Amino acid sequence: MSNTDWIQQEIDALKAQGLYNHIRTISSPQGAWLTVDGKKVLNFCSNNYLGLANHPALIAAAKKATEDLGVGPAAVRSIAGTMNVHVELEKRLAQFKGVEAAITFQSGFTANLAVVPALVGKEDVIFSDKLNHASIIDGCRLSGAKIIAYEHNDVKSLEEQIKANLSQYRRAMIITDGVFSMDGDIAPLPDIYEVAKKYDILLMVDDAHGEGVLGKGGRGIVDHFGLHGKVDVEVGTMSKAFGVVGGIVAGKSVIIEWLRQRGRPFLFSSAVTAPDAAACLAAVDLLEDSTQLVDKLWDNAKYFKTEMKNLGFNTGVSETPITPVMLGEAPLAQQFSKALFEAGVFAMAIGFPTVAQGKARIRVMISAAHSTDDLDKGLDAFQRVGKKLGVV
Ligand SMILES: *Cc1c(COP(=O)(O)O)cnc(C)c1O
Repeated sequence: MSNTDWIQQEIDALKAQGLYNHIRTISSPQGAWLTVDGKKVLNFCSNNYLGLANHPALIAAAKKATEDLGVGPAAVRSIAGTMNVHVELEKRLAQFKGVEAAITFQSGFTANLAVVPALVGKEDVIFSDKLNHASIIDGCRLSGAKIIAYEHNDVKSLEEQIKANLSQYRRAMIITDGVFSMDGDIAPLPDIYEVAKKYDILLMVDDAHGEGVLGKGGRGIVDHFGLHGKVDVEVGTMSKAFGVVGGIVAGKSVIIEWLRQRGRPFLFSSAVTAPDAAACLAAVDLLEDSTQLVDKLWDNAKYFKTEMKNLGFNTGVSETPITPVMLGEAPLAQQFSKALFEAGVFAMAIGFPTVAQGKARIRVMISAAHSTDDLDKGLDAFQRVGKKLGVV
């Protein structure tokens, strides 16, 4: 008997249920094709929506920043001074998104851990969509506020919960994902805003999968719905469509100023490196110059989804380039993913607890980096595997 036996038992149980996460190793740059576990495969996995993760302009910017400024930030920004490249990035992000101010964090995850506890505490209440991202849930828990989950994308349920609970608390906040990452559906933000306004509640949206994807030239969900100045806090990430790494909080300048004083991941953890920040700046340049990459992403997504439906696959309720291929039980999804890999397509199975039991799927992530020929190769593999496994 050892004090870690229970962990091995848990791991064995995951394997028996088809829920164990086997992590593959990539040895090529990001792009439409990857070398995964030594094999060249079509990439249907990554969040590199615009193909920026290996873009020459971003690489050049990162190289130059490395030469000019070195690789490490060497300390927390609030203690030892902040680098000009981070300040410039925040200014440009605020302009790009049409908000008063922006602050950057190490990741989208830490942005959520920073912003929620800075705005609500023990005497307060959070109304949170049932399917919100894990980092929102963790940020909410850290805040100590009462968390009340409302039915997914259901504004009626949200208002019912507000009516029943609001009066018992000091302050309140509504938090929703912008694009839900597992289903690809979009939050009904204009209706949620009306409710927030009616009850005078802070409104926060986490637009990790909308940043660089939704709105004019990828300006995000607030731009998509024309809600400028109405959403108090927009959280975003530069690890997805922006192709680099880092989190953003954008909104009213008073909130951003407060986060520089009270956002714990800002105060107690170093920033992303100068080359990271410079690469993000190059991404903003590209997005401001042209909508071409964003347009290509949406054309590709439309084509792939239409053809998948024609083949008889159930692609769920997605309204975005995220394309879930619904399969039901986790072992089938894992078997499907394995067979796709053998057929030269890298697309991961997703099961519980990332999605509900019985809702296992393959999630295909479409990118502007894909050519029509790439998409056709992927469709062909899905058809062959789908027939072999009796799905279509
Ligand atoms: C991916 C994601 C995050 C985390 O972003 P990172 O920058 O990778 O930490 C946060 N929120 C949502 C909704 C996400 O989809």
